[in-house]
Amino acid sequence: MNSSAKPLPDKDSLPCALTADSLAKPHIVQVVFDVPLDRAFDYQSAQPLAVGSRVLAQFGPRKLVGVVVGQRASSPHTLKPIGAVLDALPPLPADWLALGQFAARYYHHPLGQTLFTALPSALRNPPRRPLTAPPLYALTAAGAAWQPKAQAVRQLALLARLRQGPLGLDEARSLHASHPRLLRDWAQAGWVTQVAAEQAAMTVCPGPALNAEQAEVVAGLDWHGFSATLLDGITGSGKTEVYLQWIARVLAAGRQALVLVPEINLTPQLEARFRARFPHTPTVCLHSHLADGARAQAWLAAWQGRARLVIGTRLAVFTPLPELGLIVVDEEHDGSFKQQDGLRYHARDLAVWRAQQAGVPVVLGSATPSLESVAAVQAGRYRHARLTRRASAAALPAIHLLDIRRQLLDEGIAPAAWQALADGLAAGETSLVFINRRGWAPVLACVDCGWLSSCPHCAARLVLHWQDRRLQCHHCGHHEAIPHACPSCGNPDLKPLGQGTQRIEAALRRQFPQARIARIDRDTVSRRDAWADIDRQVHAGELDMLVGTQMLAKGHDFPSLSRVIVLNADGGLYSADFRAEERLFALLTQVAGRAGRGSLPGQVWVQTQFPDHPLYLALQAHDVPGFAQRLLEARANDGYPPAVFQALLRADAPQLDTAMAFLQQVQQHASQSAGLVLCLGPAPASMARLAGRERAQLLLQSARRAPLHALLSALCAELDAWAKPFGSSLRWSLDVDPQEV
Ligand code: ADP
Ligand code: ZN
Ligand code: ZN
Repeated sequence: MNSSAKPLPDKDSLPCALTADSLAKPHIVQVVFDVPLDRAFDYQSAQPLAVGSRVLAQFGPRKLVGVVVGQRASSPHTLKPIGAVLDALPPLPADWLALGQFAARYYHHPLGQTLFTALPSALRNPPRRPLTAPPLYALTAAGAAWQPKAQAVRQLALLARLRQGPLGLDEARSLHASHPRLLRDWAQAGWVTQVAAEQAAMTVCPGPALNAEQAEVVAGLDWHGFSATLLDGITGSGKTEVYLQWIARVLAAGRQALVLVPEINLTPQLEARFRARFPHTPTVCLHSHLADGARAQAWLAAWQGRARLVIGTRLAVFTPLPELGLIVVDEEHDGSFKQQDGLRYHARDLAVWRAQQAGVPVVLGSATPSLESVAAVQAGRYRHARLTRRASAAALPAIHLLDIRRQLLDEGIAPAAWQALADGLAAGETSLVFINRRGWAPVLACVDCGWLSSCPHCAARLVLHWQDRRLQCHHCGHHEAIPHACPSCGNPDLKPLGQGTQRIEAALRRQFPQARIARIDRDTVSRRDAWADIDRQVHAGELDMLVGTQMLAKGHDFPSLSRVIVLNADGGLYSADFRAEERLFALLTQVAGRAGRGSLPGQVWVQTQFPDHPLYLALQAHDVPGFAQRLLEARANDGYPPAVFQALLRADAPQLDTAMAFLQQVQQHASQSAGLVLCLGPAPASMARLAGRERAQLLLQSARRAPLHALLSALCAELDAWAKPFGSSLRWSLDVDPQEV
């Protein structure tokens, strides 16, 4: 469907080795491939092939893996034979194919590409070696009796885990990068031994006794077939605890559970929390950092029913689960559930569809539910469960708004915030400085002529990364050396404007030389292991101050954290994106929710130039439902989702004119047949230039889904043809329910 695809030769003109007549009774199968063409191709097979079979077949000049999606009685054409059947695995299950078919239809994406997105990459190619279940390691008698030295922290941790039951290399690696090596060493020493895949044993370690609110929510889930529930619970209200109780019930009933979490939240700590509760339940974690082989293994374990609990990021929504009993989507409002390229699916929405298909409950949990889910509750489509109190004794943090309009900031930090940091240090408590910008400063400037460091390929500023001695584009990856003088006027006095995490970290170190400080952003935490170290340090009371981006905002439970300072949040208040306020509110609520989760009362200081803005007032009052209602009403008034449904057709080309002309043409066709669909644009995208390409977009929107999708189907049938005259330099893509407009 993508216009950059090479035209393929007509299959009828390809030479074929076998003709239909040369076989007694050929079976005709329809096969889809990982190609940008929205159709299936007919092949003949000597044996009957079930739908869902993976095959190897000649496709143009290449041999490709394909998936059988249908059968046919006869064909008017002479067909090529299937090259080989990849039968090391049974055919892909029917409900998995149905999910793929739904996603292809809903997102108007070719079925072949959709199915191949949903498959782990190791299954997209012919197998190099057979996939066998990975071994598990269990303690031997000698191992059980062995006691490492008290300071051997990692060895003790691994031993503690093994005492709960056997574990595989993947889990070992997720606990710590050094664990797989330890396991092999211990196997040589005779302390552990390989065992065959264990049977699902049902041990559930006890959790805390539920409070009354939690107990009511746990008991209230509707288990009779499909139900969708929004679990709307303030930060620290014990949502995870509630999930764990439901999951225990599902596992005890011999069913599988699927838990979807945002990219950033799937930390080893979260994994460990689930494994600690269900130590003998075969659990797999699926995320994008997993190696291909490991991902395929986890996927197969789920498909074959060996894995009973699957925890994963958005891609895990496609895991085949023959005995699915419950789906949980944690932090359901999180933007990372939406894929931003290729098949632009929303894992939360597919999860709801999937639960309906399987006839099981789905729970969407959040402290700041998406407006889509709130609207679904109001429309009666989702049930509503609420947790209004923190689970531990702690109260919600007190929120102070620091009006910075008439204050002298030092390194971007107001006097009251500096004082709070000093107080925290004196009290021996941990503080967090949140600034959602990595690097040293967002831009380098010349105060004489007004020059600003800009990316040559994007409509974006180059961010100063002082420690790396370079300017860096956070959009396309371009980087260059820091100039010694202004490239425009020669002035040697260039100034970094504004603050990033690196600069704040340096300022804190200068001000509090005795403090133990860690910075957490994408530059410092690229490996999953790095999390484990920071988490351990915070829990062990080894850190006084954390400086970080939104990586720190979510999911983490640091009992010693009592003070949070929020810098530079105002940018989200007056953005062109109508979702910016919703996102900022969710982010700040999450950040604030980090404070005071243990026994210490939490305090939050938010620096702002707009202390009277309704967003900050709602934040201060912890009024999540009130703020959501205000936004919903505004969206309804202005005609934005969830009051309407949108699709965005994006186009990019070396020249803006090309992209605009293509979209103009689409717009003309669309408005002829549109009726109930509004066509807005085309217009340059909010980021008009990215990686050297000019971007434009056409927004289609309707109060009802059906006419929008009818129009999209009609347009998709023609888009390739309309794009063709513009040549291969034009690229386009369709985004249904776009999150960024
Ligand atoms: P959420 O997912 O809503 O942010 P969690 O489930 O992580 O909340 O719970 C927050 C903290 O409260 C955790 O440390 C958790 O162990 C604890 N907790 C949850 N439920 C209870 C309970 N019923 N009694 C005591 N502590 C609880
Ligand atoms: Zn200059
Ligand atoms: Zn760039």
